[in-house]
This record gives sequence, C-alpha cells and structure tokens, in this order.
Amino acid sequence: MPIIGTVHLVGAGPGDPKLITLAGAEALSKADVVVYDRLAHPSLLKLAPATAEHVYVGKNADKHAKTQDEINEILVEQSALGRTVVRLKGGDPFVFGRGGEEAEYLRARDVPYLIVPGITSAIAAAAYAGIPVTHRDLASSFAVITGHERDDSRESATRAPGEAEQRRQWDKIAFAADTLVFLMGVENLHEIVGNLVANGRKPETPIALVRWGTWAGKQATLTGTLDDIVEKVRVAKFKAPAATIVGEVVTMRERIGWWDNRPLSGKRVIVTRAREQASALVDVLQNEGAEPIEFPVIQIAPPPDHFEALDKALSHLRDYEWIVFTSANAVKAFWERLETKGADSRILAVAKIAAVGSATADALKSIGIVPDFVPNAFTGEEVANQFPETAKGKKVLIPRALEANEALPEILAGRGLAVEVVPVYETILDGRGVDEIRERLEEGTVDVVTFTSSSTVKNFVTALGPTPPSMVNVALACIGPSTAATVRELFQREPDILAEEYTVAGLVEALKKTYG
Ligand code: SAH
Repeated sequence: MPIIGTVHLVGAGPGDPKLITLAGAEALSKADVVVYDRLAHPSLLKLAPATAEHVYVGKNADKHAKTQDEINEILVEQSALGRTVVRLKGGDPFVFGRGGEEAEYLRARDVPYLIVPGITSAIAAAAYAGIPVTHRDLASSFAVITGHERDDSRESATRAPGEAEQRRQWDKIAFAADTLVFLMGVENLHEIVGNLVANGRKPETPIALVRWGTWAGKQATLTGTLDDIVEKVRVAKFKAPAATIVGEVVTMRERIGWWDNRPLSGKRVIVTRAREQASALVDVLQNEGAEPIEFPVIQIAPPPDHFEALDKALSHLRDYEWIVFTSANAVKAFWERLETKGADSRILAVAKIAAVGSATADALKSIGIVPDFVPNAFTGEEVANQFPETAKGKKVLIPRALEANEALPEILAGRGLAVEVVPVYETILDGRGVDEIRERLEEGTVDVVTFTSSSTVKNFVTALGPTPPSMVNVALACIGPSTAATVRELFQREPDILAEEYTVAGLVEALKKTYG
C-alpha cells in the first residue's frame, strides 16, 4: 500500500495573519505542500517549512481560476505522493468555502483529511469595522447569507440566466435574523437591497460594506442605508471582496469603531531590518494600524576573518578593563561565538561591561548580564563623553559589526583609552523580494520606508539598482543621526521623519507624530 498523505482543510482566517488558529498554524508548520487561494493571506505561507511547495489556485494575472474539479484533483494527487497537504482557505473552510465538497471528494477516494475551522470574515470583517453582529439592545441573531445562490467560482454554464435569483426566498431571507451578513454580495447589491426592501425591511435600515476586512493597508468600509448604498458604492467604485452587513448594529461603528482611527491606519511602511530583527517593528506598526511591508535588505553573517580577531581577544580577556557593546546584534554574535567555543558568561566576569542603547542592554540581560554602564546617549561622541574617567589608559574591547561608525572608538582613543575593535559579524546585502518592492514603489502603494541603520540605507539603494523607481512621494524615516546622514548622502534629500529617541519605539513614535 502506498502511503497517502493527510489533507488538512484549514481556515486561514479573514486576512490578518494573526487570526489563524493555533491548529491551523501547526498544520502549516508540517506541510509539504500548501494549496491556497486569493483570500488566504500570503504571509501565512511563511508558517510552512521553507521547503514546502506552494500551489496557488486562485485567480492569477490572466484571471483564470482553477475549477473546483481541478483543485480537488490537486489535493488527491498530492496526497497520493505521500505528502502532508494543507488546503488553506480564506475565513472558515465550511462557510461558503466549498470545504464540504472537497471533504466529500476526498472521502470518496479514501484520502484521510482533517478540518481546522477558521474565523469567518462574516464576523471578523464586521468586528474590524467596529460592528458587533449581535448586541443586547440591537440584534439578538445574525444570519450569514450568500450574495450568489451559487458561489462565484461555479461555472455559470451550469445554471440558466436568472435561475439562481428566482429560486431565492427573499421573504424568508429578509427576516432570517436581525443582522444579515451577505458574503459575495457586492456584484448583486442592487438586487439584494431591492429584495430586502420589497420584502419589508425599512429603506432606512443601516448597511455597511467592509472590503478586505482585517487586511492591513487594504480594509475599507462604506456605510449607508438600504436606500442609498447602491449609489454610494457606485460613486466610491467600491469593489469585491466585501462583507455586507445589514441591520441596526451597523450604527455601533460610530461609537466603537477602532481600526480606522489608529494613528497609522492605512499607512504602508517598508521595514528594511534583517528578518530576525524585524518582528518587533513589524508588530508595533501593525498594532498602530499600518501595513508593514517586510523587505529585509540586510543579513547578518559571520565576519570575513572567521572570528580570528575575536578569538584572540577572548584568549586574553583578562587584559581588558572594559567591553563595550554597541548593538544587540553584537551581543548575539559575541555570545554565539562564546557558546561555539564551549565557554559561558563566566568568562566575562573579569571585565566591566558597557551597553550603548537600551536594546543592547536588554540583549545583555537576556544572557544574564547586567551592564555596569549604560550611557544615556546614542551618538559616539555623547557616549565617549559619559564614559567613566577611571577608564583612562585602560584597555577597551569593542566587539561590533565589521563596518560601523568610527566615532566612538576614535573619540575614546583620543581620550587615552587603548581601544581594540574586533568584528563579530558583518551585514551583507539581502535583495530577495526586490521585485515586489519595485512594483509597489512604481504603482505608488508605499507611504514610508524605515531605516534603522546606515547599512539598511546603503543596501536598500543597492538592492533597487541603478534605475530605482521614483520615491518623491515616499517618506524616508530614520532611527538616528548617522542613519539620517547616510540618507542625505544617498538620496540627496533630507529625511522626512527623524526619531527623537534613537530606538525602534522612538521611530514608531516619530511616525505617529507625523501621521497621527
Ligand atoms: N470562507 C470564507 C468565505 C468565502 S466566500 C469566510 O469564512 O470568510 C468569499 C467571500 O467572502 C468574498 O466574496 C467576500 O464576500 C467574503 N470575504 C472573504 N474574506 C473577506 C474579507 N477579508 N473581508 C471582507 N469580505 C471577505
């Protein structure tokens, strides 16, 4: 008997990648192949192993969608190869997701499957628009209804024109529940509202359309009444995919709406930090309402001397009075090298330790070391000024990036300290994903690029190549003065946004001040 892989029919949630379930994320983490469509957020693919194959079955550039039969066959074929298959579907797989049909098909062919429910857009899009589908005073029930009798992807040849609409019992639908949520309803909105009013719903009943609900940078909401919404949709050129919510609960949006009111709502922000470091910035941006666009232009690599200088310093660490760390990366690289050499933090007991910046101090604390000195300053000069007088004439070790700002070591040396700089890592160019970034810059769907170090500026410019798209309408945001200097040099313009406190939190504060 050949081994048959299990198919996981997984609800991806409505869009926001954090709205997938733990079970869904776990299934993805074990997938050999992920079969996904347009309404599943593409960044969920990152939860699958790097080796997993991705099969897109939604509409592609030439608008051809795979038929349901083709999708069913892909699932069977992949499982026959003994692979673990994740069929990732927007929202919940059984809410107009045709998950039931897929499961039936698999059962008929003895393919094992699991169902992982997801958060449906019917509830989540409303929630992100500030609309609770039930409310003690306004609605004690809700119904989720398709805006098409058959869903979008069913070939129209299988039904006679108008047949589907005639079959619908609008008198029942109109009062199926206090709140009605229509999915796939934008195209037929005219018919839907007409039928609701014809069957007794008041023309002044509130209605909302939430487009790309929970998708950062994409969610948009339009409200009105059954009477005027069709005209509003026409004027706004409001397009699918959207959830349409009908009922008194829609008025709650004015009181409890939150998504659209956040300081960075709708701002599309490129994050250029190395992938391992990006998550803190990405998370805060998301929480403030922005759409973070990850474009990690730097990668952290071992120094070109293969730690020769560091190893030498480690072999006579007692000679140093001070070790100065200037970045969390330096702490991490230094620590990893110690571990590789079979040493641990006791080796550092012989020296005093300084950390420049709170993130560096935190990195040290995470390996059990409380720095002796954390200057309240960020530029090399300020740090040098605050350096304890007692250090004069003593040996100071600075483990850091191969290429870094020389101000601190030079000034310290000028003050009579015996400074020794050793490279513990090197930042190298990571240009992956540049095509998407180029495209977004060209189509004008980027508002801000954030730079968190000089090397992010340099590599960003290098990655875009000699003919970069115009960035006149894109704000350049810098974490600190040396990053800003590099922006001036390479972009020939002033940075638009400058952090007051030279940390990631300070950078986000500056963005909020600009846009909030
Ligand atoms: N299984 C999905 C629904 C699939 S039908 C779920 O549970 O959400 C596809 C329809 O769902 C779209 O036409 C649109 O009406 C709605 N939809 C899906 N994702 C959406 C989103 N993020 N925002 C608004 N509507 C969405």
